[in-house]
Amino acid sequence: MIRRISIFGATGSVGVSTLDLVQREPDAFDVVALTAHSNADALAKAARGSRAALAVIGDEAHYGALKAALAGSGVEAAAGEAALIDAARAGADWTMASIVGCAGLRPTIAALEAGGCVALANKESLVSAGALMMEAAAGSGATMLPVDSEHNAIFQCLAGSRLDDVARIILTASGGPFRTRSREAMRDITPTQAVAHPNWSMGAKISVDSATMMNKGLELIEAAHLFPVGLDRIEILVHPQSVIHSLVEYRDRSTLAQLGSPDMRIPIAHALAWPERMATPCQPLDLARIGRLEFEAPDEARFPALRLARQAAQAGGAVPAILNAANEVAVAAFLEGAIGFLDIAMIVEEVLDRYSAPVPRRLDDVLHADAEARAMARHVMERMTV
Ligand code: NAD
Ligand code: MG
Repeated sequence: MIRRISIFGATGSVGVSTLDLVQREPDAFDVVALTAHSNADALAKAARGSRAALAVIGDEAHYGALKAALAGSGVEAAAGEAALIDAARAGADWTMASIVGCAGLRPTIAALEAGGCVALANKESLVSAGALMMEAAAGSGATMLPVDSEHNAIFQCLAGSRLDDVARIILTASGGPFRTRSREAMRDITPTQAVAHPNWSMGAKISVDSATMMNKGLELIEAAHLFPVGLDRIEILVHPQSVIHSLVEYRDRSTLAQLGSPDMRIPIAHALAWPERMATPCQPLDLARIGRLEFEAPDEARFPALRLARQAAQAGGAVPAILNAANEVAVAAFLEGAIGFLDIAMIVEEVLDRYSAPVPRRLDDVLHADAEARAMARHVMERMTV
């Protein structure tokens, strides 16, 4: 059966990997819509190459450039947030949600409301509005397919088992590029150093999150929504080789793990072909060459983002949305060179201390908490730099 697919965030690291797989099996997929934020040329090229019906650019300032780049291609062009949401309802039966950050929330919810399969890479949307997203999926009967490698691993290890039989979910973490550094030696880390991940090639924001380990904190919250076994049953284990992508221990103490080369095309292919399998060009796992796999406990003293995220997960309500928003602002400021590496977690902690919001009932409540937390994060940063 031909799958009708759309990719939100088609020009990003996950989006490009998804298109790479789609283009290897052109007869299996019909591309309904591709979206990007501002890179009109890259979006137009991807839309032409995949014979997409529709290309949507989020930032309206680039609409003219998109139209020009698509002239004569037969691909329809659109722009703006409303067009992104319309694209989520344009009839795809499989949608890749790979916009980075809370910016992906509205289109992802729209795709969930439309039903079908939603392959979820955009973890920030689940962190900010997990309860509302799970409700939207339950309401429409949409299937959420986790793409984040750890959650995809857990999904595979669960293989339809009852969550009541799960004793523990163990999320593995590479520990990032600064796994062995002291706090003192983290002070002068530059954006270039933080973005260079030892195992994975990813977008800038998630690379910085991996370096602070906020990524694992966000993933803890993501896991708690996708696999509701209780937070006390979800643990983090540092595993520097990124070969075991996560584990599930059952109550009989049998433990299943999913392994693979650190290449996002493996979990993406799992979601693309689900419930079947497809071939990928990824490296087979050569365990004899790898030789040994190592494990260690995470260190919350050196990586306070882990503690902050667990506290936010325990508090629930709007707190994870506030954590995420403050982190997005701080990471962007770090990437621009405006603040230091250690300031990221400090800003998040200060925003969490100073701002609280009622439990969100609707999407607007989440977006309000997100906007207020961003404003507070900017205020905290201004005070820091004077
Ligand atoms: P990226 O920065 O490479 O790409 C982001 C995409 O989102 C781009 O296509 C960009 O145009 C689009 N985008 C950005 N801001 C937007 C906005 N305001 N409105 C509309 N579109 C916007 O990011 P990435 O590394 O591909 O990550 C995407 C998501 O997947 C993130 O949530 C990340 O945490 C998650 N994820 C990524 C990886 C990975 O290997 N890269 C692994 C696991 C999870
Ligand atoms: Mg991950």
